[in-house]
Amino acid sequence: MIGWRSLLLGLATAALAGMPAAAQSIYPLDRAEILLGSKFDFKVEVEGEVPAEAIGVTINGRDAAAVFGKRPVVEVNEEGLGHTAYWIRDTELSAPGAYEVKVTAGNLAKSVRWQVFAAPERRARNVILFIGDGLSMAHRTAARVLAKGLVEGRYGGELAIDDMPHMALVSTSGTDAIVTDSANSMSAYTTGHKSCVNAMGVYCARNKSGLKHPKVETIAELAKRRNAGMAVGVVTNTEIEDATPAGMVAHVRRRSDYDDIVRMFYALAPDVMLGGGSAYFLPKSDKASRRKDEENYLEKFKGLGYSVATTATEMKAAAGNGSGRLLGLFHPSNLDGALDRRILKKGTVAAYPDQPDLAEETQAAIDILARHQNGFLLMVESGLIDKFSHVLDWERAVYDTIMLDNAVAVAKRFAAERDDTLIIVVADHAHPVSIIGTYDDARPGERLRDKLGVYNEAKFPNYPAPDSDGYPPSVDASRRLAFVFAGFPDHCSAGKPFLGGPFKPTEEKDDKAVANESYCTPQATRMEGNLPFAQRQGVHAADDVVLTAMGPGAELFKGRVDNTYVFRVMATALGLGKPGQPAEQTARQN
Ligand SMILES: [Zn+2]
Repeated sequence: MIGWRSLLLGLATAALAGMPAAAQSIYPLDRAEILLGSKFDFKVEVEGEVPAEAIGVTINGRDAAAVFGKRPVVEVNEEGLGHTAYWIRDTELSAPGAYEVKVTAGNLAKSVRWQVFAAPERRARNVILFIGDGLSMAHRTAARVLAKGLVEGRYGGELAIDDMPHMALVSTSGTDAIVTDSANSMSAYTTGHKSCVNAMGVYCARNKSGLKHPKVETIAELAKRRNAGMAVGVVTNTEIEDATPAGMVAHVRRRSDYDDIVRMFYALAPDVMLGGGSAYFLPKSDKASRRKDEENYLEKFKGLGYSVATTATEMKAAAGNGSGRLLGLFHPSNLDGALDRRILKKGTVAAYPDQPDLAEETQAAIDILARHQNGFLLMVESGLIDKFSHVLDWERAVYDTIMLDNAVAVAKRFAAERDDTLIIVVADHAHPVSIIGTYDDARPGERLRDKLGVYNEAKFPNYPAPDSDGYPPSVDASRRLAFVFAGFPDHCSAGKPFLGGPFKPTEEKDDKAVANESYCTPQATRMEGNLPFAQRQGVHAADDVVLTAMGPGAELFKGRVDNTYVFRVMATALGLGKPGQPAEQTARQN
């Protein structure tokens, strides 16, 4: 075994030679913005097996243990991975301002800076955060075209998501990559800390175990801990264990750890939980279960006093009967999208005919949450905008954008009767999508590109007038939007909507994603993918996303901000940034 001294010496030489100090990591990372009094795990990783007495950690010149009021735990050869970990878990900082953290181990030194911000005064009774998963500019434009019409270059009205007084651009990159996923992007909104792909509520340290990484507190946890009696709601049309809803409660390195995520939902107990994913609430022995253990979370939630709903009818009944807590799981997996549920009756609509619409879920959630004495924090996700964009099915993604708009309209009606509710509408990341003209069946020629009109030849699409909820009763117009994807796998495209059910662009052949031949009709064009061969679907984009907002605190949104800033505004509006409250301090002393 190499002694720690020689290892450190080697690393110090490497550092002198200008190599990055990858040997040491400090969590929270450099330039972290930390809410005053919020909980986090402080971790330092040092290369090699280093005895505790050789590691020095100071914060603004004082010993870290004294600053945090807690003794560190040093794990030499943590989880057998060869490094040494210095932990002060579940800690917080009690004064706002600039912090410099310095770590020394032998000849090696590293420092990071943090900014701790206070948010002592509550200005909003309620915060409603809408996430359009993957919602990009072209989805928004297409939703406006379909729902409001476009004549001589002017729209027939405003979308609810656009018609808000405050707007910002939000950058979504994570700590490890320019392009993010829905886990770490949601985590940035719910914790104010950036993280890496697939992680939520944790920094991505070296730990092997997905549950051991350094945790950061979520806004749902803060709302419950800091504002006694405040209610929390989580609403989606995906599996409720999926990254965006899970980001409200979860501390996992791997977003796919659904069994753990359900346990974390149970630990926080959001007062309203509506979505899909019932398979992970049932014990393994139930044939509808996808759990790996015998826990029955439906029964456990009932034990906490929750009403349980499995259909839209049951959900509305529970919302109307005075319930204070509701668990609504309407599908074993993801719900169907608006186009399938309302118009085409495809997907799994025949098997689950009474699924709620996102707008109905939002109304039920608000009805229940508004009964709580100290306001509420509600997250509503239109989650299939992303999933349909991955499979290059833009019509379904846009119908679900219109559905998001209707859900936002519900919240705006609630907020209009009061001036105490902050509403934020934002995407978690973009997709590389764009509208480049129209496909017109009347254009001469056989190939897809013959049908494409650009500039003046595009004219305007001729979708039928929408119904009262903004949905055209048919998407199969003769002159359609040419809505294209900049990143795609091999597939066949006829430039037409998929009336038989969501698109499946690829199939697996010899471990490669190849075009799904059943779509390669004589009218379709074979598109050679421009993504790596392993990608079976379209991918996310690094483009900034648009945020719109209204209500107390919304004026803080302007210009371009990082995704972590969304947390900051919500925490500020709810007054969640205070030093430890007397009750907490007493509890800790005891
Ligand atoms: Zn996605």
